[in-house]
Amino acid sequence: METWKEMEDCRICHRDCGVNRNQGELGFCRVPAEVILARAALHHWEEPCISGERGSGTVFFSGCNMGCVYCQNHEIALGVYGKKVSVKRLSEIFLELQHKGAHNINLVTPSHYVPQIREAILASKGLGLTIPIVYNTSSYEKVETLKMLEGLVDIYLPDFKYFDENLGLRYSRTKEYRTIALEALKEMVRQTGKPVFDEEGMLLKGTIIRHLSLPGSLGDSKEILMLLKDTFGNSVYFSIMNQYTPMEVLRKYPELQRKLTEEEYEELVSFAQLLGIRKAFIQEGETQDESFIPPFNGEGL
Ligand code: SF4
Repeated sequence: METWKEMEDCRICHRDCGVNRNQGELGFCRVPAEVILARAALHHWEEPCISGERGSGTVFFSGCNMGCVYCQNHEIALGVYGKKVSVKRLSEIFLELQHKGAHNINLVTPSHYVPQIREAILASKGLGLTIPIVYNTSSYEKVETLKMLEGLVDIYLPDFKYFDENLGLRYSRTKEYRTIALEALKEMVRQTGKPVFDEEGMLLKGTIIRHLSLPGSLGDSKEILMLLKDTFGNSVYFSIMNQYTPMEVLRKYPELQRKLTEEEYEELVSFAQLLGIRKAFIQEGETQDESFIPPFNGEGL
């Protein structure tokens, strides 16, 4: 079995669990040191400059260091589903996705596997991987862990979930989410610089900050946009999302048992315009649909 010095006393994210994942101990992310994947396939539901015509080569990692109560991928976030793969196999999967025509390699929920991912990227680049690497994260990241990816990740696709720390505590059991995520975003933007597109409009380099607006949290969403505009100006892209989907498991959270209304979303988008945010993706039409959640059936592993 592959072992990793960072996993002996795992503190690679802000949960600081201190467990020995090499020996199968589980921390908050609920997965050992072995990489566990749920799916690796072309995915068409990201921002247009990520998905393009052919799709984004999306690799879904099992386990998660956030565990948001409303997660759409909860079956893999709990780490109970997936297939163990070696780092060598992970690098082969990247190359297979490139061969299938993927515009990029899109690592979804990768934070708890950074050392393994780093090795896999290096190996696949040595074997001919040329498409951009996208790191798709909740932003509950340590800056020193992100530094391990410098020069290897081309595009960061971070969420910014909460301004009010109490929301982070309630929905994701995080402490100081806002402070931690903001420092992580600064590091991501430092690494990628300003967005660079190819002639077809595909993103080659840069950071797109996503915010999923939750029902009942419109004020929090506005605070987030103000904070991010003040911090980054127009040097990043924003993606303002309305696709929150209520789920059966949310009975304990009555405020989350409805979708965001069209009026609420329009108000948030107008607010972004008022703030002077010019580079933003918005969602149109009915996006609150389970068809956006791919089947976690082990495809591509
Ligand atoms: S990566 Fe997992 S085990 Fe390590 S500190 Fe984060 S949540 Fe804990």
